[in-house]
Formats: sequence, C-alpha cells, structure tokens
Amino acid sequence: MRAFTYERATDPVAAARAVAQRPGARYIAGGTNLLDLMKLEVETPTHLVDVQDLGFTRIERTPQGGLRIGALVTNTDLAADDHVRRDYAVLSRAILAGASGQLRNKATTGGNLLQRTRCPYFYDTNMACNKRRPGSGCAAIGGYSRQLGVVGVSTSCIATFPGDMAVALRVLDAMVETIDAHGQTRSIPIAGFHRLWEDKPQQDTVLAPGELITAVTLPPPLGGQHFYEKVRDRASYAFALVSVAAVIQPDGTGRVAFGGVAPKPWRVEAAEALLPQGADAVTRQAFEGATPTKDNDFKLPLATRALAYVIAQAKA
Ligand SMILES: Cc1cc2nc3c(=O)[nH]c(=O)nc-3n(C[C@H](O)[C@H](O)[C@H](O)COP(=O)(O)OP(=O)(O)OC[C@H]3O[C@@H](n4cnc5c(N)ncnc54)[C@H](O)[C@@H]3O)c2cc1C
Ligand code: SF4
Repeated sequence: MRAFTYERATDPVAAARAVAQRPGARYIAGGTNLLDLMKLEVETPTHLVDVQDLGFTRIERTPQGGLRIGALVTNTDLAADDHVRRDYAVLSRAILAGASGQLRNKATTGGNLLQRTRCPYFYDTNMACNKRRPGSGCAAIGGYSRQLGVVGVSTSCIATFPGDMAVALRVLDAMVETIDAHGQTRSIPIAGFHRLWEDKPQQDTVLAPGELITAVTLPPPLGGQHFYEKVRDRASYAFALVSVAAVIQPDGTGRVAFGGVAPKPWRVEAAEALLPQGADAVTRQAFEGATPTKDNDFKLPLATRALAYVIAQAKA
C-alpha cells in the first residue's frame, strides 16, 4: 500500500472542499471497498478524508411520505429498519443478499452506491484496463468474461456494476442527494447516477470531483409484493451473476430491474410494462441489442428464468 495522509471531516462543505481541491484526495466511509483496492494498489489516493463523523446516520420520514436515508446509515441498519422492511422490502432483501454480516455492519449507503466493479482484470495491475488506466485497453474483451456485462457495455469496457442495493433503489426510483465544495446541493435520480462506460469507463458515476453524497431519498411506498432474487456461484459472499429486483402489483403489473448484467442497474420501463405477458416478453425487450460473450451468454436465459421465478412467486 502507498503512503497517504488522513483527516476526519467534521463539516460536509469543508470535506467536499478538501477532496475537490486536492488532487489524489478521496473520501473514506466504511472502507470495505476502498481499503481493499488500496492494498492492491488499484487505487492510490494520496489523502483520505474520513466522513464517518459527519452524522448522516438517520433514517427519517419525508414530508412527501417517503424516506430519507443518511449516506452513513450502515447496510445492516438500513436492512433492519422497520419502515424499510414493511414499505420497501425489496431494498431490505437486496441488502441482505449482499456481502456478509460483518461487511454490512461497516458498509455505508453512500459507499455501497460507489463500490467499484469486480472485473478480475480491474483488480490485476499487470493487466490492461481502461477503467483503471484510461487508454491502456481492456483485457476482458477477448479474455475471461463469465461475470461481465451483456448489455449497455461498450468497446472500451464490458464490466458490470456489482452491487445489490442500487438495483432495488432503481426499482424504487430513489434520488441521490449531494453537496459540493461551494455548498451547492443537488438531487440526482438513481436512473442517471451510474454511467454507461462509453468513452470514459474510468468515470463510474455522474458525481463531480469532491461531490459528497449526503443521503438517498425514497418516494412514498409503492405497495405490491417485493422480491429480490439473486443468482450467484455460491450461496453467500458472492456477487450476482444475475439479480432481479421487482415490485409486483395484484393485477400483475409492476416494476423490475436487473443486476449483474450491465454497468448500472438495468431497468427498461417499456419492457416492464410487458410484465403481465410474462418473463419472456419482458426480457426480450429489456435485453434487446445485448452483446454477450461466449462466456456469459448464459446470463440472458438466466435473467428470464429468474424473472419467471419471481412472477410465479407473486402468483402463488
Ligand atoms: C468480500 C466482499 C464481498 C462483497 N459482496 C457484496 C455483495 O454481494 N453485494 C454488494 O452489493 N456488495 C458487496 N460487497 C461490497 C460492499 O457492499 C461495499 O464494499 C460497501 O458497500 C462499500 O461501502 P463502504 O462504506 O465500506 O465504502 P468505502 O470503501 O469507504 O468507499 C467506497 C467508495 O465510495 C466513496 N465514498 C464513500 N462514501 C462516500 C460519500 N458519502 N460521498 C461520496 N463518496 C463516498 C469512497 O471514496 C470510495 O471511492 C462486498 C465486499 C467485500 C469486501
Ligand atoms: S471490462 Fe472494464 S474493468 Fe474490466 S478490464 Fe475491461 S476496461 Fe477494465
């Protein structure tokens, strides 16, 4: 690990200024992703700004009838919250499908949204990787790509966003709240928060340098039945090959997003309108134009079967 300096921030704007103005500075929250990447020298920050004293640890009702989740609420506390379990069960289930109890005790809402891809070549500093070193190439294209993306990928990067929580947030139409070094706040729809890799795979999200996540806001509850179905190589401690987050209403309509298949949680509203026609109809449209590799073309039928399983449970 490379040497770095460290400070504990006590004010959000000062924290944003510290990161925005200092090249090589990064936030650290639970540290469960960043520290691993630093040990491998995939990430080499020169200065860490620890945000854990900023107090964003509350889950509160909003005047609109939704929920505001502080960026530092741990995954454990969020999944266990009574309101979340009752009104946003898809979120609770998605979080509990991820990582392990110990990791969820440390992992934060903001950090979870910003976890980096699990592409094996991204983690190996001997390999070409446009995301780690822009312009160096992509060892995964033509390499081993079982875990990687099938839709929304580009000729510069075929990695996936690996997280579970964000797939549920996409179904719920969450907003990501931020503050910058000038004290300006903004609310970013989760649909536009993660980027497709396109020409700049090194930029995972639309956040500006130093922009700090302060909270995630949920609209009023959707009702319906909530599901998070995650298919993976091991029963725990494994990232999704394919996951399905869904809210299904009694009349068979609903919302659905897929994880493990694209650079961002993958939701196609026109496709989910076909839910009453069944899983085949939805995935045919949701994955139109998909470009799987020979290693991961199994993900397309797997997504259909996972969704069919969810629909069958909703009818049971
Ligand atoms: C063995 C293992 C298995 C895992 N399995 C899963 C899994 O199955 N599913 C899953 O979804 N996840 C899984 N994870 C990932 C885990 O969920 C993430 O590591 C965790 O959520 C990151 O949160 P953190 O607070 O520790 O982030 P950190 O590691 O502290 O930070 C991550 C990134 O977010 C930035 N950041 C943190 N907070 C803020 C903020 N408020 N504003 C702006 N930037 C910020 C940091 O600069 C850093 O770039 C696994 C991790 C491990 C180590
Ligand atoms: S798929 Fe993306 S993360 Fe993986 S090696 Fe290629 S550029 Fe890097």
